[in-house]
Amino acid sequence: MQLLYVRYLAARPLDEIRCVAQARQRHRCGNPLLTPDTPTGTWVLVPATRTCGQLALPAEVMAVYDLSGLPYTEQFRWRSQRCPWHAAEPSAADLAVADWEVFDPLIHHEHIHSRLPSLIRRPRPTDTARKAGRP
Ligand SMILES: [Zn+2]
Repeated sequence: MQLLYVRYLAARPLDEIRCVAQARQRHRCGNPLLTPDTPTGTWVLVPATRTCGQLALPAEVMAVYDLSGLPYTEQFRWRSQRCPWHAAEPSAADLAVADWEVFDPLIHHEHIHSRLPSLIRRPRPTDTARKAGRP
């Protein structure tokens, strides 16, 4: 994922990234970051280089979910890993540390995919039944 000029590796798939803010009764909020109401990023193929640039893996591209076209506030929301509701509530404490890891093409080589995902899964009310069948 690319946001705020940095590539990050998320700990889980896009639609499973959950808000880290504290909700009521000291529980973690857990709402998804990817919602039907917020602007989405786009999957793009980019050279698999380090952000700092000095070590390129030649002729290798990787699929990145690019959020850099979004407004700064949206990118910042993803970076701070908050759902739309908690992004507007900065006073709510974080119950968990955001899962982002700065992406390194050498360390995270297994996460490099040279093809774009065929579809972007988005949370929908009808997803519940299908999700139940997933491992
Ligand atoms: Zn939340």
